[in-house]
Amino acid sequence: MKNKIIDYLDSIIPDPKCELKYNKDYELLIATMLSAQTTDKRVNEVTNILFSKYPSLNDLSNANIDDLIDIVRPLGNYHKKAANIKDIAASLKDIGYVPNDRTFLESLNGVGRKTTNVVLSNLFDEPVLAVDTHIERVAKRLGLAKPNDSVREVEDKLTKYFKNYNLCRLHHQLLLFGRYYCKAINPNCENCKLKNICKKDFKWSLLFYSNFNSKCFYFFTII
Ligand code: SF4
Repeated sequence: MKNKIIDYLDSIIPDPKCELKYNKDYELLIATMLSAQTTDKRVNEVTNILFSKYPSLNDLSNANIDDLIDIVRPLGNYHKKAANIKDIAASLKDIGYVPNDRTFLESLNGVGRKTTNVVLSNLFDEPVLAVDTHIERVAKRLGLAKPNDSVREVEDKLTKYFKNYNLCRLHHQLLLFGRYYCKAINPNCENCKLKNICKKDFKWSLLFYSNFNSKCFYFFTII
């Protein structure tokens, strides 16, 4: 099943790439932090303005907070996100680069495990897998994780299951598969080559009900 999933993802997404635009290491970190609860497209529009106006860590850390709030307003939660930009830039400006250090990264305001995994994976090729809402959904539909598993449990299961694969590549493939093919609403199941192993449509439903010799006979099946 593992190879079937990988082969299919390779066939439909042969050249997976991060859809967040960045030119510098800290730009990826900040863009990923900003991407919470919004789309990569909107983040790219905002960071295009943000990183042009404030082209260094020093500039970002000294930026006027009200101006940052105005810039990131389209992303939602803009007070918090603007403050996080300043805090992250201030924490990094003396070092001058994003370190390969999970503890340090997770200590930054607005930076959790998912953002840290994105950074470690994309910048340092570390064998970690960031799980977002798309990847969580795909993993559960394919039966690679249980419906009630937490995000961390999904991450651990996927990392273990695909341990011999390029997890950075797989992260982008699963994310893009969830975003464009296995969508939350109206997934393209008809053309999906994983439908034979997919668990999405398994649900209990009443197939037929009959009354036989005054006894009720229920027959349920999985469709
Ligand atoms: S069959 Fe549908 S739900 Fe299942 S993996 Fe494919 S697109 Fe997703």
